[in-house]
Amino acid sequence: MTNFFSSNFKLGILGGGQLGKMMLYETRKYDIQTYVMDPDQDAPSRIACDFFQQGNLMDYETVYNFGKKVDVLTFEIESVNLQALVKLEEEGKKVYPSAKTLEKIQNKGRQKLFYKEKNIPTATFTRFSNKTHLTEGITSNKIKLPFVWKSTQGGYDGKGVSIIKSGADLVRLPDVECIAEELVHFKNELAVIVARTPSGEIKTYPVVEMEFHPEANQVEYVICPARIDNEIAKKAMKVAESVSRAFEHVGILAVEMFLTQDNEILVNEVAPRPHNSGHYSIEASYTNQFEQQIRAILDLPLGATESKVAGIMVNLVGKEGYDGNVIYKNIENIMKMKGVTPHIYGKKQTRPFRKMGHVTIVHEDINEARKIAERVKNTIQVISE
Ligand code: ADP
Repeated sequence: MTNFFSSNFKLGILGGGQLGKMMLYETRKYDIQTYVMDPDQDAPSRIACDFFQQGNLMDYETVYNFGKKVDVLTFEIESVNLQALVKLEEEGKKVYPSAKTLEKIQNKGRQKLFYKEKNIPTATFTRFSNKTHLTEGITSNKIKLPFVWKSTQGGYDGKGVSIIKSGADLVRLPDVECIAEELVHFKNELAVIVARTPSGEIKTYPVVEMEFHPEANQVEYVICPARIDNEIAKKAMKVAESVSRAFEHVGILAVEMFLTQDNEILVNEVAPRPHNSGHYSIEASYTNQFEQQIRAILDLPLGATESKVAGIMVNLVGKEGYDGNVIYKNIENIMKMKGVTPHIYGKKQTRPFRKMGHVTIVHEDINEARKIAERVKNTIQVISE
């Protein structure tokens, strides 16, 4: 086995945002050497890696040359040049998650087809190569209003998603490849994080429940464990594991799901990396998702996924109406509260709804944690100077 610790071994990470930064707390803990590439010279990860390179993650040559320098390559963002990963793998480089897995996930249409192929429960959908075909699909009654429109590429945090209720809603849609998905009247949005190693060891985190901000379509609270029936939780974990196995995924896979009115689990989408829905694990779990990611991609034994206490995460997003140098107003007040830990990602500029940080609340009693979370939410404000 390779000696990863205090050695010459090099772990490469494509992307240097907050997910990478939190992963680097763990490589520091284990004294594993890291190379990070990001287009932004001031990327959050910069302060914690051993070598930083500025570069375009979508450029073949740049990603290929970066990959050549490291022993194992991973990514903290899905928008990376896939062909470069394919080439690196052909040349024997370890890339985790693999190019094959990423290819199926990068395009939402392909991802949905994969679920269908593998009999993984998901909302019904139709794929369209452009807006004209989508419009024809509506006029010919192939699809019915209302539906959920999703751009197959480039969407994140709800930016490539729109609920279409009437013909008028179509006007503002961009002319891109898309899917039209059945509008699910869900009871709940759930997520399960699964870790899998190249050897096939699997460990699954408890089910979390997500509460969304009604306007921004971003997660407002992530609650662990989800306040749902034990049987439903078991079912959700089983579905998530089957998704990880179907993808032959290596590393952390976050599986987002809907719980329908009939208690069915439908897979919405996956993220092949540590995920917002797993941030609570830093304070609440035996092994946080970032440490688990390192363990998984290096084929080390996976850590325990159980929680030590209930955990709730509150996203810190830029307040509407504020643009510019960021200020975390009232942060001292939340720091006085027991079991409350703020995480500041290191982005100097705030914008409305930009993810700037998060706060974790831990408590023995989940209902108490939820109350404190609300107090946190109403106290701290992400504004500008
Ligand atoms: P993103 O990749 O931007 O996170 P998602 O596919 O997760 O996009 O969609 C964002 C949100 O939109 C979901 O969390 C959910 O609240 C809502 N949504 C997505 N698909 C559906 C659907 N089929 N029915 C109802 N709501 C949906």
